[in-house]
Amino acid sequence: MKGKKKFAILPLLMFLAIAAWKYFSADTWTNPETGEEIKIGLSEDQEEALGVQSYREVLAESQVLTRGPEVDLVRRVVQRLIPATGDGGDDFEWEVNVVQNDQVNAFCLPGGKIVVYTGILPVAGDEAGLATVIGHEMAHATMRHGAQRLFQNDIYNTVMQGAQASMADMDPASREKVIGLLGAGAKFGVLLPFSRDHETEADQIGLLYMARAGYDPEASVAFWQRMAEQGGGQGPEFASTHPSHGTRIDNLRKFIPEARKQMP
Ligand SMILES: [Zn+2]
Repeated sequence: MKGKKKFAILPLLMFLAIAAWKYFSADTWTNPETGEEIKIGLSEDQEEALGVQSYREVLAESQVLTRGPEVDLVRRVVQRLIPATGDGGDDFEWEVNVVQNDQVNAFCLPGGKIVVYTGILPVAGDEAGLATVIGHEMAHATMRHGAQRLFQNDIYNTVMQGAQASMADMDPASREKVIGLLGAGAKFGVLLPFSRDHETEADQIGLLYMARAGYDPEASVAFWQRMAEQGGGQGPEFASTHPSHGTRIDNLRKFIPEARKQMP
């Protein structure tokens, strides 16, 4: 038995067939900004229900501010950004809350539920800086990045199940090694690049939103520079997939002239 490597191809083929079926039968959605047809793993209703649920959970365990200058500022920026989302945010029931918390963080859940932590306000600096962050977060929701990621993960998990089933008779040590390699390959070769693309898209669409709302997209550069000075490590959702700040700022600069054309 020792060292014997039995790999059965059939289970893998079966799971690949399931993955292919899932891929080709997946729901698609037309990106309202780019016209691109995109595969998604959740319906808009399902996505929104999940968004509302997480929103309530976050608010229930947070210190929510109901009034004050911070609340006024955040609400003002959001009110200006909402119409700028156009078709992407048409069916959303937008809502925003400010949470008293030193974390440099903000996010927008599917369906348009926004949470802004007071810790990000000094980094945002002014209204245009805040519009940079919130526009970026709104774009993740309107571009349905969560539903896209779910679809990708589903395909990935199906293929991995197939690989595992094919290696059921292999000795556990080599099986673990192969699964580890496959997992790392998929993570760095497929899933991470996808999330980096999502970051770039959120940056670009966020610029459009802020421009349409009347904020100069040029302000996004100064905002990301302040974020870089923060150390860029912990906290914000948008640091989690880490395009380097330099790369991000270069990309923004390329897109700013185009976005500026949409200023009122
Ligand atoms: Zn982001």
